[in-house]
Amino acid sequence: MSDLLHYCRRLQLLVASLLLALLTLSAVSADRLKAQVTWLADPAREGRYAGSPGGAAAAQYIAGQLKELGCDVQMQEFGGGRRNVAGRLGSAPRYILIGAHYDGQGPGMPSASDNAAGVAVSIEILRELKSKNLPVSLVVIAFDDEEQGLNGSRYYTDHPLYPLENAQAAIIFDTMGRQFMDLSAWTMFVLGTEYSKELTGVVQKRSRPDMFVVGSDLIGPRSDFAPFAVKHVPYLFFSHATHKDYHGPGDTADRIDYTKLAQDATFIAQIVDDVARLQSPPKYLAQPAYPAAETATLEREVELVEKERKDLPEAYRMMFADLKTRLKTDDSREVRRIGTTVFLALATPRFSSFMLTFFVGPYYEKENRRDLAVAAYQEALKWASSPAERQELEEKIRAR
Ligand SMILES: [Zn+2]
Repeated sequence: MSDLLHYCRRLQLLVASLLLALLTLSAVSADRLKAQVTWLADPAREGRYAGSPGGAAAAQYIAGQLKELGCDVQMQEFGGGRRNVAGRLGSAPRYILIGAHYDGQGPGMPSASDNAAGVAVSIEILRELKSKNLPVSLVVIAFDDEEQGLNGSRYYTDHPLYPLENAQAAIIFDTMGRQFMDLSAWTMFVLGTEYSKELTGVVQKRSRPDMFVVGSDLIGPRSDFAPFAVKHVPYLFFSHATHKDYHGPGDTADRIDYTKLAQDATFIAQIVDDVARLQSPPKYLAQPAYPAAETATLEREVELVEKERKDLPEAYRMMFADLKTRLKTDDSREVRRIGTTVFLALATPRFSSFMLTFFVGPYYEKENRRDLAVAAYQEALKWASSPAERQELEEKIRAR
């Protein structure tokens, strides 16, 4: 009897470890992501500035990774030593495009979260889906020269290697693997659902509490999804968004949370799988239908910040209090855009001055909230770097 019990226990253990092994097999590897981000963000790549030798080396590396996965690889040169890297897997004419820019900020700027991590996620999602027998092909594009104005993705959408009308969707990544605003809570932003009912359905089905689904207009045409929107290709944009080291020398490979990045890459691979198997292909909506839960999402973000940042400067306290009130009575896109701009200003001190001076302050002036405008300018003054900037802000504060 006890022997049998013992045997059963061992069998249970065996089954459990087999299941665990299977689960691990069908998940993106944190180690692989780390190896790729570390290579791309290495000082030897010199920040992968578009057209630089470091950028060219990164393109070769990405091409190598895609070839290893069995992709048909093409380099799309577009002048100035710049090139997009494209890898296609599968022969079905319909395809899902997975894209992320690989260029960076140049020497001294490792550009790990922005956007070595997005490139690594693209490659690993391809590896993850390779054996899934999808009814569509997969096309990974690593875009060059995003930082100077989305030049690689704009060139690509004007000169697509595969007809854009055959694209089921474009799945775009930018700025991944760090916590938004350096909060302890993990948040993944999903933008672009407003242009497709079908993609909205997929995202809703997979919805998670830490997934923030908002309209793309809240950040504006700031990443490689924008040229696809212009061509009316349905898209989803995933980002963990900005942090204190964004576009700075501290955006290093060792500061990425690879466990979280791998979990989210696995999760996004499921979404891509769902999109591939949609009965009717996503259609691009001429009129955006913004996410129903967007207001609640922004309110939740305000609460998170207020709870965690006890040292929040007075200007932000005032602006967040105002935002909460406005969100209850004003359903305009402008309020949501300004609210998002306040978050982004708080997230990255090196951009605070610019955002508060040119967007937030003027908005409050227009709304006849001189008190909030002055608070915004005073906060901006803390971060203003040039004497001209400081003088301009001091004048704005004094103005009547
Ligand atoms: Zn970027």
